[in-house]
Amino acid sequence: MTRRFTFGLGGAWLRAIIIGLIYFVAASATIMSTRFGGGVAFIWVATAILLAELSLSSPKRWVRPLLTCGIASFIATSVFGFGLWAAGPLAVFNLTEAVIGAALLRRLNHRRGPLASLHDVVSFVVAAGIVAPAISGLGGASIAAVLGLDYWSNWASWVAGHALGTVAFAPIVGAVMRSDTHKFVIGAKRRTIIQNGTMLVLIFVTDVAVFWHNSHPLLFLPILVVMMATIWRGQFGAGVSIVMLALVGGFFTVAGAGSTAQTTEAIASATVFFQFYLAVTVLTVLPVAADLTRRKLLHEKLLASEARYRLVTENSSDLILNLDPDGTILYASQSIAELGDYSARDLVGMRGSDLVLKEDRHDTNAIFVEALSHPDQTFTSEFRGVGRDGTTIWFEMRCRGVVDDDGSISGVVSSIRDIADRKVLEDQLTHEASTDFLTGLPNRRAFMGQLETLSNDLSAGNRGCVAIVDLDHFKSVNDRHGHLVGDEILQSFSRCASSVLRGADVIARIGGEEFGLIFYGASIEQATAICERLRSQIEGMRFHGASDDVPIRLTISAGVAELKHGRLIGDVLAGADAALYRAKAAGRNRLALAA
Ligand code: GH3
Ligand code: MG
Ligand code: MG
Repeated sequence: MTRRFTFGLGGAWLRAIIIGLIYFVAASATIMSTRFGGGVAFIWVATAILLAELSLSSPKRWVRPLLTCGIASFIATSVFGFGLWAAGPLAVFNLTEAVIGAALLRRLNHRRGPLASLHDVVSFVVAAGIVAPAISGLGGASIAAVLGLDYWSNWASWVAGHALGTVAFAPIVGAVMRSDTHKFVIGAKRRTIIQNGTMLVLIFVTDVAVFWHNSHPLLFLPILVVMMATIWRGQFGAGVSIVMLALVGGFFTVAGAGSTAQTTEAIASATVFFQFYLAVTVLTVLPVAADLTRRKLLHEKLLASEARYRLVTENSSDLILNLDPDGTILYASQSIAELGDYSARDLVGMRGSDLVLKEDRHDTNAIFVEALSHPDQTFTSEFRGVGRDGTTIWFEMRCRGVVDDDGSISGVVSSIRDIADRKVLEDQLTHEASTDFLTGLPNRRAFMGQLETLSNDLSAGNRGCVAIVDLDHFKSVNDRHGHLVGDEILQSFSRCASSVLRGADVIARIGGEEFGLIFYGASIEQATAICERLRSQIEGMRFHGASDDVPIRLTISAGVAELKHGRLIGDVLAGADAALYRAKAAGRNRLALAA
């Protein structure tokens, strides 16, 4: 969360004035302490302050800080630098530098500060550390050239000093302005404040100890400290330790590092060395700080998505499972308690297939393997799950492969839903779609399906027969006794026929008063014998209508045909139909065999 300091009504001017004052102090201090041989300053921190301010606000708000910092630059140059004659142009060059840097950073979309990612660090160094000072240096060096100094060596000093000052200081100045430092300083817990204070003291002591005697062999120590601070405190640690190093190291270097015998030339060359030293340190640390920030953001995102995921899984009635590629359960959501009487903890470590009925394991395993090999797709399957008490429940499972960072499959996530109610409804619908409403027998569609199955089985060496039975003169039964009595007779016939048939045989109502019979495994003789038994039983029966007690006689005729391998079902049925027709023609109440 970033927040800008505000100063209430009219705060924009107050803020601009404060920025201008800080700019003035920074400019004066560096001019006074780091100008050698009358040339440009060796290190220039002031641009960092203005750049940080500009890159935080829209160009519409740039006028005030540009004005105050322009005045600050003008006064600093007039009083401490080249003098009044150069103050105007130099102020323009300095402001131009900050404007170019800030405009480039805005273009490169730098809203989170220069250390938010590696890409941000690179673009920040290029924009603020190379392009902006290289351009402003052309103007700056010309001022030195007016004084008869070498143009290009002053241009190089300008670029190096400004680049270093901006790259080293802008991140920490920007962080203070965005108040990222808030959580480490003002809003921090006591413990954090003490830790940060200790860190600052340690950095300070190390830097002072190393630079006091200008003992170059120990120069690796401050880098170590800067790295530690960066790793420990991220952007804040990096910014603070770099600024501390620049201030302490810069101070001792410019002051001749305790050795008063140093000549101005020696100090100038030591300053150049220190610039390189600081530049290398900054360029080492900034990418690390950026990567740490990126990781931290990633971690925060991960935590947020983890929390979201938990909220969803724990409140979902679906069971969510994470399985490793071997099918071992790594995570089970709480809803398993309602689904299978397991506790989520029991499930972890079990094999997913242990929850599936043996008969359905082949299918679920196949889906699991598919999900592993095509992680970009979701696979669905239905299976019967086995609860702890042995009960089975129908489930629908959707699963998807989980891919690692490096693209390899790390497992499968499944969401499993109880579909018992749906299955009951489906079974009911399937039953209704295949059953005759009046008699409860299978209907024509079911009859054709069964016939298809038997016909397919014939190729495996099985045999079977089919018969079509039609009630004789049924129209006149209806006419005489009424349609309702006709219905009752159809029902009685169905019951009677079912009891005459063998267990595996099938009777279906395939038309109004027309029935289809299938005899699995029966020869034509056996089928004829059963049909004959049925015919004689019906002939002997007396049916009674509900309204009157007059017994009704009924006869049936049937055509019987044998199913043979290679013969079309349609042809067999046509044969049975033709035989039935012959039986009718021959006087009814009889059977006839298909040709
Ligand atoms: P046939 O011996 O030649 O088969 O004579 P039939 O009268 O049985 O033959 P037809 O095909 O002319 O008539 C069949 C009759 O079956 C006509 C219809 O009234 C009766 N029927 C068909 N479906 C139903 C039904 O669901 N309920 C009742 N009550 N009668 C039906
Ligand atoms: Mg009939
Ligand atoms: Mg008929």
